[in-house]
Amino acid sequence: MPELPEVETVAKSIEKHLIAKSFKSIHVNWIKTLDNFSLSDFKHKVKGLSVARVYRRAKYIIIDFNEVLLAVHLRMTGKLYVVNSIKPDQKHISLFLKFDNKYLIFEDTRKFGRFYLFDNLDYLNNKLGIEPLSNNFSKEWILENIKSKNRQIKSLLLDQSFICGIGNIYADESLWFAKIHPLSISSAIPNNKLIKLQTSIVKVLSESIKRGGTTIRDYTYDFSYVGNYALNLKVFNRSGKKCLRCKSIILKIKVAQRGTHYCPNCQTNK
Ligand SMILES: [Zn+2]
Repeated sequence: MPELPEVETVAKSIEKHLIAKSFKSIHVNWIKTLDNFSLSDFKHKVKGLSVARVYRRAKYIIIDFNEVLLAVHLRMTGKLYVVNSIKPDQKHISLFLKFDNKYLIFEDTRKFGRFYLFDNLDYLNNKLGIEPLSNNFSKEWILENIKSKNRQIKSLLLDQSFICGIGNIYADESLWFAKIHPLSISSAIPNNKLIKLQTSIVKVLSESIKRGGTTIRDYTYDFSYVGNYALNLKVFNRSGKKCLRCKSIILKIKVAQRGTHYCPNCQTNK
């Protein structure tokens, strides 16, 4: 499942091709991809409009037509990319949009990816938590908001209505840097570790964006480009290997139904 850095990478990679291009047509092979709108809705609302901006909000890619927003959630296997021509026999294409001389392709082998049409960001803003790369995500914010909850820290970090964009990989990485055990109860974590957690989240996400995200499965973000943050992972997917800080063996447990990797020696509850 792509997380914040991967979604940011996709948004940036398609933006340069789509800015100021005008919408011409849409072709849908898998109708369930359209979540909260119909094909005729889309044609009616987007007809004649041009792309003003493309950006990320949480794990959504937002194609902003000024009057209306198209939000794309890639889910497990969705790939969104721009090409100059389309091969009609290409497998797994759920839908494509034509913009002047470009095609925006949505390819999705498992078909969980969804497109939403919104008039503005209100709906997403109401259900999504703080953006971890915004200025509001400060040390003060983390001390106040994590301390006031009695939740397992790993599940709290995965809760998109609390902080958005962090998934399994970056939650494990950030907790390793902050030396926090993934099962720690949020209210009991010492302040110095929470402050370290805030800087770790920002560092891990920003560094991954710089490297084009992590590719663990077959997820590629652009034709030729594969993110290489995987080379930088300190704890995720390293169970049975030595901790890079203390040489203890990294363990893997289940937290919130997700495989969770941690060092039993240097990540503690205290
Ligand atoms: Zn360790």
